[in-house]
Amino acid sequence: MHYVSTRATSASAARNPDNFCDILLGGLAPDGGLYLPAEYPQVTSAELDAWRTLSYADLAYEILRKFATDIPDADLKAITTRTYTPAVYCNVRAGESATEITPLRVLEDGRNGKLILQALSNGPTLAFKDMAMQLLGNLFEYALAKNDDALNIFGATSGDTGSAAEYAMRGKKGVRVFMLSPHERMSAFQTAQMFSLQDPNIFNIAVKGNFDDCQDLVKAVSNDLTFKVRQKIGTVNSINWARVVAQVVYYFRGYLAATTSNDQKVSFTVPSGNFGNICAGHIARMMGLPIDKLVAATNENDVLDEFFRTGVYRVRKASETYHTSSPSMDISKASNFERFVYDLVGRDAERTHALFRKVDTHGGFDLSGAPGSDGDEFKQVVHFGFASGRSTHNDRVDTIRDVADDYDITIDTHTADGIKVAREHMKPGVPMIVLETALAAKFNETILEALGTDAPRPAGFDDIETLPQRYVVMPADVDQMKAYIADHTGL
Ligand SMILES: *Cc1c(COP(=O)(O)O)cnc(C)c1O
Repeated sequence: MHYVSTRATSASAARNPDNFCDILLGGLAPDGGLYLPAEYPQVTSAELDAWRTLSYADLAYEILRKFATDIPDADLKAITTRTYTPAVYCNVRAGESATEITPLRVLEDGRNGKLILQALSNGPTLAFKDMAMQLLGNLFEYALAKNDDALNIFGATSGDTGSAAEYAMRGKKGVRVFMLSPHERMSAFQTAQMFSLQDPNIFNIAVKGNFDDCQDLVKAVSNDLTFKVRQKIGTVNSINWARVVAQVVYYFRGYLAATTSNDQKVSFTVPSGNFGNICAGHIARMMGLPIDKLVAATNENDVLDEFFRTGVYRVRKASETYHTSSPSMDISKASNFERFVYDLVGRDAERTHALFRKVDTHGGFDLSGAPGSDGDEFKQVVHFGFASGRSTHNDRVDTIRDVADDYDITIDTHTADGIKVAREHMKPGVPMIVLETALAAKFNETILEALGTDAPRPAGFDDIETLPQRYVVMPADVDQMKAYIADHTGL
């Protein structure tokens, strides 16, 4: 299985047929595009049948081996078995089984159809990013050991990504994590999750500034290529291909758990910001999984909803980006969206490149087909099953309250965006699966507002804020940051 860049000319792609392990540790392709398989592996109905009885780990193995053809089967199987174990995904609700890894719960089975919640947040940091990041940790350790190499992950976080990366990489041989976060601006719970880690390969750096300052520091340090190479700096952001492919697995799992025959279809609603999670749904569908609709649910930062309603992709300025109560979806542009656009324009890399050049120069593009637009491919979107909707703070509060009243469970704010939008797209005969992207305990402020009581916390999280914390505070200064990294990598 070879990988191509969404911006590669056929000549350069033919010269560099990248394998899975070649792109595992990287982010963007050298030409600025994103990696995708040269073609999507197809799944037969017989395979789907055989996969109905597999454990999550074995299903992950069967799917990943279609993409990671350069990892020997036995090695891959050991990795998926180690990654997807009930011991890691143990933070389930009462009545759910950790052996399911991503248990399904039917919320409603009525006149409008079936509404199902698929829990992706039972991992160590209580958010769906664990599903992919835990695999990445084990893949990185494997690949680095093979080449006797090391990797220093350097990133910025406002919450979910940083903690998922740290819990995935803690104690991994050859890997260190340097994670910047805005000093005293994360919730007490999220701060405690990260800063209570005592592993010597995890470095929490609280930057005196806001999240944008942290991101600017990461950019400035990464732009010094000599430093980046010498210090073996890498990232684990959401454009990483292995993260996307790990997420493909739970779409198969959700489908198989919600159906009894491959003649049936399901739809998914996915709380979306960077288009990472739902991009995996698109790939599952392209592989032949019988998905009817893929519904992107956004919050007030509705870049994706706007595109799926109008065909206009318009990135937002920092001043137009809202801080919302579903903060992990507060984005100004959707960094994985280029992967879908590449497929939408018939895998034409030159055209994809031109469209995303226009994003840089003009802030977006228009595929609506209107006079003066950049193309008319928007009319093809329905053939890919995409739909969308938008949700606001009031919608979240109302939905959290409704779901607590009607089904007696507490959902988090991002999942609430998903349920709100899913209800607008349900139809009888096609189960609607909403992906639960975090547990409510992570976003307690809004739960208090909606329900007047605290969100339930899984066992072991009760006193997390009182644990000893390990972190350094630094100014937003590039040279001091570089000095700190060099001091602690020993390179
Ligand atoms: C990251 C995150 C999202 C958004 O996922 P994308 O794939 O980046 O769109 C949604 N909900 C939660 C809880 C998250 O942490």
